[in-house]
Amino acid sequence: MIPVMRPWFGPEEQAAVGEVIASGWVAQGPRVAEFERRFAASVQAGHGVAASSCTTALHLALVLAGIGPGDEVVVPSLSFIATANVVRYVGATPVFADIDPATGNLTAKTVEAARTPSTRAAIVVHQGGLPADVEEIRAAHEGLLLIEDAACAAGSTYRGRPVGAGAHLAAWSFHPRKLLTTGEGGMLTTDDPEVAARARRLREHGMSVSAADRHASGSTAPEQYTEVGYNYRMTDLQAAVGLVQLDRLPEMVARRRALAARYMNFLGGIPGLTMARDPEYGTGNFQSFWIALPEDFPMNRGELLDFLAARGVSARRGIMAAHLEPAYAGTGAWDLPATEWLTANSLILPLYHSMTDAEHDQVVEAIHAAAAGG
Ligand SMILES: *Cc1c(COP(=O)(O)O)cnc(C)c1O
Repeated sequence: MIPVMRPWFGPEEQAAVGEVIASGWVAQGPRVAEFERRFAASVQAGHGVAASSCTTALHLALVLAGIGPGDEVVVPSLSFIATANVVRYVGATPVFADIDPATGNLTAKTVEAARTPSTRAAIVVHQGGLPADVEEIRAAHEGLLLIEDAACAAGSTYRGRPVGAGAHLAAWSFHPRKLLTTGEGGMLTTDDPEVAARARRLREHGMSVSAADRHASGSTAPEQYTEVGYNYRMTDLQAAVGLVQLDRLPEMVARRRALAARYMNFLGGIPGLTMARDPEYGTGNFQSFWIALPEDFPMNRGELLDFLAARGVSARRGIMAAHLEPAYAGTGAWDLPATEWLTANSLILPLYHSMTDAEHDQVVEAIHAAAAGG
């Protein structure tokens, strides 16, 4: 069976984990600090604060922004559900906005339709690694705090710079469904040193001095707990893997873009088929390569997923819509036509670094067979 995604590791990751184990310090320590510095530099951010996941990094972002009960946060419904859930973690209300069906991302206009006097922030997602037009949204919504959910977007570019460059708060994921993986893991990036310092305390129980720094200094002075924090730490085992994966990232992006271009080339002749593609202002890493079926396609999305599975191809439904899930039932009378069209008619095709041309051909041929009526 051809999988949808498969992480790309070599012996270097194994060796890096072995070194951490041999050092005797496996919790958050020097490898995490190095990964934070190098990852932040790679996205041209001033500071990186590693976390246990993108979800926990987003939670920290909302706490740092002072968002709480009574506040509304605009989010796309078309996203992994964590984007909406984190708003609930701080007692605030997620308000779902529609998306541009060409990219799956929020626009200045869709944010406008979701704004009320209680709106404090918007979480702008770079869905599937395709960059959102953050500057367009910022220009139209002065004073609205934008938090970037860049979970999928390591290695994507926006207006000639890495996605996340210049963001007040951006959150990243290193889950194996993304390109660069540490098993589980995340990062918060910011240009503000005070925000970064507080984020470091919050992800470690609100401690005034991190356990690693105390160990390194040999100080016996007790630490203080400055506010109620969390245990959202990454381990040195994970960061050691992340450092090796970060070196591989440019090669991973290049390979994914080549495989995506190959899909566009071989599937472009199917009438009415929509495909994930770069917007004019940036380049995606193609973390997800999705296609959306036209109304006159011979089978619906569910039938096509079954048809592909019977031919050894494991595809997935397209990006979910949180407002259609039981967890958000009854939260509003949402009017999200582009979201509902894209989530119902799209599917994610296999794309992974080690994918061979023969495997790629097998997917392409199965979709052509389906388009011809099965
Ligand atoms: C994967 C993903 C997340 C969650 O990331 P984790 O690291 O698994 O917590 C959040 N938002 C988006 C858009 C994602 O794709």
